[in-house]
Amino acid sequence: DAKLQGGGEFRFYAPEMNERAARRLALEADLRRAIERDELLLHFQPKMSLINGDLVGAEALLRWQHPARGTVSPAEFIPLAEDTGLIQPLGEWVIEAVCRQLRAWLDAGLRPPTVAANLSARQFRVEHLVDQVAQALRANRLDPALLELEVTEGALMHDVEAAVATLHRLKSVGVKLALDDFGTGYSSLAYLKRLPIDRLKIDQSFVRDIASDPDDAAICVAVIGLAHNLKLAVTAEGVENDGQLGYLRRHRCDEMQGYHFSRPLPADDFAQLLRSGRRLDLPALADGRQTL
Ligand code: C2E
Ligand code: MG
Ligand code: MG
Ligand code: MG
Repeated sequence: DAKLQGGGEFRFYAPEMNERAARRLALEADLRRAIERDELLLHFQPKMSLINGDLVGAEALLRWQHPARGTVSPAEFIPLAEDTGLIQPLGEWVIEAVCRQLRAWLDAGLRPPTVAANLSARQFRVEHLVDQVAQALRANRLDPALLELEVTEGALMHDVEAAVATLHRLKSVGVKLALDDFGTGYSSLAYLKRLPIDRLKIDQSFVRDIASDPDDAAICVAVIGLAHNLKLAVTAEGVENDGQLGYLRRHRCDEMQGYHFSRPLPADDFAQLLRSGRRLDLPALADGRQTL
């Protein structure tokens, strides 16, 4: 028993670590079967214009409905999938599921906005990624501009030259590209201008205390300025309240995504949102103007 034999700190941490390792092993085995058992699904979180309140996009977020454990967070199973290589089939499933969903909404007479899928670092480096994306779009007869792909700085830094080439190939398929969680990685500003991307997404860690922390506020304002100077749209993630919304609006951030407007929604609820035409309520500014 490690508890009795181990010395120092080991003896206190060992049982907890074993528990975590055991959970990981069990989850890994289950994740292998999750696709065929139909346990994965997507939720869709609206992205709203801060200029006119329109619905301008959605982000597809993966959910795993585990039969015994309930909903497992992607923060837990995505890293696991990355480490084990399972991210390959998982990531392919996500791209196909987003395209199938878009086709279903179009067939139902709805006008879905561009939907973004997240690409993990490892998935981004797969040889046939571009073919996968093109094939999923073709199979569902979709305008490629209806699909956006979100990549993180981490995915690009591994091999910048190869990343830039892959992004260009994706761009030539016609999809939109976004740099996710911007500010949390180590991207160099020198190569940011070489990336054929359409959008920067400000990480929610900078948005959280934007109204009270001058440092976070300064970072957000700088990222908005940087994006606009590079002719990129900028989306703030994790907007939860009026204070954050007002600050971002005053500083000309283009779009928001966050609980303030809506949590990620099951597909049926997102379709309902599309039908309802509900918009982001933008109060008149102090000087009476409706927009900036
Ligand atoms: P992300 O791509 O940065 O997604 C945004 C996360 O912030 C989502 O968490 C979303 O539910 C959450 N969020 C949205 N609005 C708010 C808000 O107002 N407040 C707070 N506190 N959180 C908010 P989620 O769904 O748990 O996903 C976490 C991460 O898991 C994602 O971060 C992404 O990195 C990864 N992920 C999710 N789905 C996929 C996928 O299909 N493929 C890959 N490779 N990664 C995914
Ligand atoms: Mg994302
Ligand atoms: Mg993000
Ligand atoms: Mg994130």
